[in-house]
Amino acid sequence: MASIFTKIILGEIPSYKIYEDEKYYAFLDINPNALGHTLCIPKKEVDKLFDLDDETYKGLMIFSKKIAEALKKAVDCQRIGVSVIGLEVPHVHVHLIPINKMDDMSFNSKIKLSDDEFVDIMKKIKSYL
Ligand code: AMP
Repeated sequence: MASIFTKIILGEIPSYKIYEDEKYYAFLDINPNALGHTLCIPKKEVDKLFDLDDETYKGLMIFSKKIAEALKKAVDCQRIGVSVIGLEVPHVHVHLIPINKMDDMSFNSKIKLSDDEFVDIMKKIKSYL
């Protein structure tokens, strides 16, 4: 069965899409740690990061860098933290999280955003791509 992220790529489930190319897709995390929390995924559905073939792995990192640079410009933060977990969704995803302190990388503290707030930050990040 297709992962929830494959369904997002196919447009079967909505997402706040930041950017996509032929092989990768970036969208806002629906339950963010911080404003602008973004997920970058390969369109190829693979569960674990280190099971990716080298080309897809490198491509995902370069794609994530491009999105992180735009995210850093869009959100007032010290830096963009990177995390790969995958315990909830078995489809490789790189978390890009605007951070100011170590706790901002904790997945225990979440923020709530309205639809308008998701749309606003999505547009802002896109404007820097
Ligand atoms: P993990 O697999 O533990 O790295 O976490 C999966 C992440 O995907 C969590 O941060 C969820 O909030 C996020 N997530 C799950 N479903 C969706 C969705 N439909 N749209 C955006 N983000 C999602």
